[in-house]
Amino acid sequence: KRLVQGLGKTRDNIVSGMDSIFNGFSHIDDDFYEELEEVLIMGDLGVQATYDILDDLKGKVKAEHIKEPMQCRELLIESIKEQMDVGETAYEFEEKTSVVLVIGVNGVGKTTTIGKLAGKLKAQNKKVVLAAADTFRAAAGEQLKEWANRAQADLIGGQEGSDPASVVYDAVASAKARHADVLLCDTAGRLHNKKNLMEELKKMNRIIDREFPEAYRETLVVLDATTGQNAMQQAKEFNEVADITGIVLTKMDGTAKGGIAVAIHAELGIPVKYIGVGESIDDLQKFDADTFVRALFT
Ligand code: GDP
Repeated sequence: KRLVQGLGKTRDNIVSGMDSIFNGFSHIDDDFYEELEEVLIMGDLGVQATYDILDDLKGKVKAEHIKEPMQCRELLIESIKEQMDVGETAYEFEEKTSVVLVIGVNGVGKTTTIGKLAGKLKAQNKKVVLAAADTFRAAAGEQLKEWANRAQADLIGGQEGSDPASVVYDAVASAKARHADVLLCDTAGRLHNKKNLMEELKKMNRIIDREFPEAYRETLVVLDATTGQNAMQQAKEFNEVADITGIVLTKMDGTAKGGIAVAIHAELGIPVKYIGVGESIDDLQKFDADTFVRALFT
């Protein structure tokens, strides 16, 4: 329900556009496909994904001898869903301790996402440790402390300006000593200084590899969906400096261009693991192509 609500703007944009095409055409022809193409591209699904989806749809229409535009609706939903399905994206924190590095530029919603995740994990009775390794921005640590209190998670921080890797070192030690289920690390994402960022991430990864080789690892990039193609660009740049295992798309509630989730799948092949549809703890939702597409089209 929150998902349906949170995707309202995107639904209004993409789906009402589509439905007016389905209703407006009496038969399926080139103009029909052209208008569909326009709606998909305007919804930020990306050129690549749009072409793939329409090719797939055309194939289905032919194979199933569809004549009525309205009969295409279900097929189009199927095509979009298939486009987003990059296989196994399940993100379960189980058995081993998980160490999750969360990266992304300032303001995208990293700290909030970590707080929401910590809250969710707490609700599942998981023991959570948070590392405030964004020592660049003093406010980040303070903000994380609030979330940590709310989620009753342990917080390991450092002085402003201290070495983020040393915070990660302390946090790993704490996670091991406390037999934590999950260690979530907030990091400073300074994309404008790629070389530093890369070095910093390398150093953190080296410490985790050395101190905690048995941990299950994830690197999540947080992207602000309201920035559309900028988010795509950031994803590409972070992908050059880190082995990204998943994407979190935040602020989906604030954009009509939630189709960016489809474009990211198509262009980068990196699974979207969570989407943020608001500011409260419950507004972080595990991403699943089927649920996402259903929420959009119902
Ligand atoms: P950071 O700099 O990347 O750590 O970003 P923050 O976590 O401080 O978030 C920046 C702002 O975005 C805050 O005001 C958050 O409440 C807001 N925010 C984060 N995620 C979402 C979301 O999914 N929806 C909405 N509407 N706001 C969000």
